Amino acid sequence: MQTPRASPSTPVVIVGAGPTGLATALELARQGFAACIFDMTEGPNTESRGTGLQARTLELLDLYGVTELILARAHRVRAFIVYQSGEDIGRIDFTLAPSRFGGSPALPQAITEAILRDALAEAGVTVEYGVQVTAVEQHDGGCTVRAIGPDRQSFEISADWVVGADGARSPVRTMLDLPFDGVSYPEVWGLMDATVDWAWPPDACVPVPGAISEPTWRSAFRIHRRQVVAYRNGRILLAGDAAHIHTPAGAQGLNTGIQDGINLGWKLALVAGGAADAALLDTYEGERKPIAADVLHLTEVLARNPAAMLGDGSLLPEQLAARVGQLLVNYRDGPLAQSSPRKGGLVAGDRLPDVAIGGVPLYHRLRAGGVMVAVLGAQTDVSALAAEWGNRVPIWHVDRDDADGVLAKALGLPEGAVVIRPDAYLGVVVEGSAPAAAIDAWLKDALHLKSTAQAASPL
Ligand SMILES: Cc1cc2nc3c(=O)[nH]c(=O)nc-3n(C[C@H](O)[C@H](O)[C@H](O)COP(=O)(O)OP(=O)(O)OC[C@H]3O[C@@H](n4cnc5c(N)ncnc54)[C@H](O)[C@@H]3O)c2cc1C
Repeated sequence: MQTPRASPSTPVVIVGAGPTGLATALELARQGFAACIFDMTEGPNTESRGTGLQARTLELLDLYGVTELILARAHRVRAFIVYQSGEDIGRIDFTLAPSRFGGSPALPQAITEAILRDALAEAGVTVEYGVQVTAVEQHDGGCTVRAIGPDRQSFEISADWVVGADGARSPVRTMLDLPFDGVSYPEVWGLMDATVDWAWPPDACVPVPGAISEPTWRSAFRIHRRQVVAYRNGRILLAGDAAHIHTPAGAQGLNTGIQDGINLGWKLALVAGGAADAALLDTYEGERKPIAADVLHLTEVLARNPAAMLGDGSLLPEQLAARVGQLLVNYRDGPLAQSSPRKGGLVAGDRLPDVAIGGVPLYHRLRAGGVMVAVLGAQTDVSALAAEWGNRVPIWHVDRDDADGVLAKALGLPEGAVVIRPDAYLGVVVEGSAPAAAIDAWLKDALHLKSTAQAASPL
């Protein structure tokens, strides 16, 4: 795969190489697309900012083989404890999060970004620093992106799609004149990278105050709670802080941005490659906008009235850890979830259980990145799917690898089939020995995929 920057046109331009832009580019690369990714800074970010990584983000980053690299460098945080007037008023015990990656690791954002950037470089895509995008215009069949390069010369590049992952002040959002609805809070917050000499409580990530010296960077800022009204405007899509901002409480922003990027990346790859109709891109907003709205609510409560969530006992400690760990994120009410109601077991839009099959994490099996049908039960007949979709949608007969029925038990589906999406969510769940017609309909009608007869390119 080659970075097509030398060419005057490219399928996808990503504006911004923060965590959101990097995750989008990484997912596109996994799907075989080398995006152009521009950042106006002279070089990589060096600030710590978003340090808290959530369990769901780590599960998803394992699809790219980078989670172990993150864990090897991170400081493991067991709990988030809130003190008010010296009194411990509540805590989130991250170790209770039901995930392989329970126990939130803390890593400076600059290092997380470096790990993502290295993975991207390995996939053949290099971030272009010193490139400031100054205008994005849409016209029939594409976009024109205008920018100033590191040599201060203006240039133009044509793109089929543009992703605005350009942060809270998002020039792309401003160019589109899209309202960023919400409020700004009156308090001023402070942030610095410095040496701190103080006593750490044994199980806390928030130390009690002590002496601060040698600040290398400091910033005072106000916080806001805002969300853009539309994530897609024709051929331009917004993601991460460009689409939603909120208080840093609860360590959600970087995590939400990375998950935006992954959700958008595989859909954009299917559309840009001609394998799916552009209508699939509307499901990005349909799925991710409500998730960010929930994050706005969560972070507001954690910042302004933490006792309401941590101290009142309405959520069990395990539920709280799962919620903040983003393990409850699901797309059950989203536009792709069309399964028939079930009496038990997982349904369309649920997180794919991160079980081990034959000692190997299921998520490692997904690293190839495609849309996959998993068939459960020896009598389940999906032969019609193979005829219609060829090798474009691989079919995995789970029983052949999973003698103990681990996945069937986790799904609550002894006989039937599920579509596993590239981002490790369940696309559709069909019970019984004849699921082929329902799966075929979902691939065509919900995912807007073109069958082998309709599309030339492989998925
Ligand atoms: C104090 C603080 C603590 C935080 N703690 C956490 C935490 O623990 N966990 C967590 O999940 N989140 C945390 N966050 C939030 C997190 O830092 C952000 O949500 C995250 O950086 C958003 O990523 P992004 O890629 O969307 O945007 P950004 O990181 O802002 O990246 C946008 C990029 O776009 C580039 N850009 C902008 N305009 C242009 C242009 N015209 N042309 C080219 N490039 C452009 C910028 O240079 C920048 O590199 C914290 C934030 C703060 C301030």
